Amino acid sequence: MNVLVINTGSSSLKYQLFDMENQIALAGGVMERIGESQGIMTHKTFSQGDEHKTKKTITIEDHQKAMHLMAELITQKIDAIGHRVVQGGEAFKSATRINENVKNAIQENNPLAPLHNPPNLIGIRLAEDLFPGKPQVAVFDTNFHQTIPEKAYLYALPYEYYTKHKIRKYGFHGTSHKYVAKKTAALMGKNLEELNLITLHLGNGCSICAIKQGICLDTSMGMTPLAGVMMGTRSGDLDPAIFGFLMDNTGMSQKQIDEVLNKKSGLKGICGLNDLRDIHDRSAQGDKLAKLAVEMFAYQIKKYIGAYAAVLGRVDGLVFTAGVGENDEIVRAKALADMSVFGIELDLAKNDVRSSEPHTIHGTNSRVPIWIVPTNEELQIATETCQVLKNSI
Ligand code: AMP
Repeated sequence: MNVLVINTGSSSLKYQLFDMENQIALAGGVMERIGESQGIMTHKTFSQGDEHKTKKTITIEDHQKAMHLMAELITQKIDAIGHRVVQGGEAFKSATRINENVKNAIQENNPLAPLHNPPNLIGIRLAEDLFPGKPQVAVFDTNFHQTIPEKAYLYALPYEYYTKHKIRKYGFHGTSHKYVAKKTAALMGKNLEELNLITLHLGNGCSICAIKQGICLDTSMGMTPLAGVMMGTRSGDLDPAIFGFLMDNTGMSQKQIDEVLNKKSGLKGICGLNDLRDIHDRSAQGDKLAKLAVEMFAYQIKKYIGAYAAVLGRVDGLVFTAGVGENDEIVRAKALADMSVFGIELDLAKNDVRSSEPHTIHGTNSRVPIWIVPTNEELQIATETCQVLKNSI
């Protein structure tokens, strides 16, 4: 079965086609800057280990044009479509075959993810028109976190804010956490149900997850992807009183503060840069704020590891993934320094080795294995799409 995975953002469309029998990607690409005067279209095909890439600057007026361009570029057959949907709220505990009720429920969750769910829904509707009769499945970022217990997902606010306004922790990056957890279990030759893992998805967005015997018990992101550890441009956890203080003392509107917290905070807020490669370069040149940004980031990651070790009681593995998790030995070394009390000991030489394959970086005396496992959210979405369709036959 060939599954097309679609991830529609407000100004982008990412896609990947998988041959699920052989578990390989056949094609993939991204349409960027949809709606701007100059868009960028990148398409890749993969064949026997070779990659063929085409990139064009082209006006992509809207999502419909982007979808049509994608459909013209994909020459292989498409049997089913899996959609990434960011916010499933409490309505969806697992991936779901799309029908009218599912679309309505996604729309009902729009207030919880105003930047993400509406374009996700546009992608679903366009794909239904473009590929009539092909089964479509929604895989939600929030699915994996629906097992988080009430004591962990509730905020200590008046209870009716939860019942009336659905204010609670939902968590995000669920497909990534699930993918690397399963992959790590397979690499360790164990069942996921035997293992307690802390998975660290550290990219431009960051989230950390405590997984006990395959069940997610807690995660660092919250009702929105703004919570948790500081990120490239997002603040992460804050004293909630800061929001009101900024409104009272700076004259900024709620919208402007929101913009600061999402786009001008985190690493960028501290040192002006959000890409850790640039930050390390600056730091090497003696820039104090660049150095401070890295120290803060690593410190916050360390705190979550300690907290989740306490939640899990026993940790059988730490798993680093995504751009920073997979590639940044400096952040990993700082976050994991002096953690032998938790049985966590990094091997600094192994930590410095770059590889696109999963590998371990712990020392021989480390009680806790430390893994680097590249994530593959698209493959996880394709896998869940197949599972849903098999179960619905
Ligand atoms: P992602 O959101 O997973 O694509 O991660 C993007 C982020 O990963 C970038 O903003 C960088 O901060 C970081 N990153 C990517 N490649 C490297 C690298 N080779 N070394 C350090 N950080 C990297």
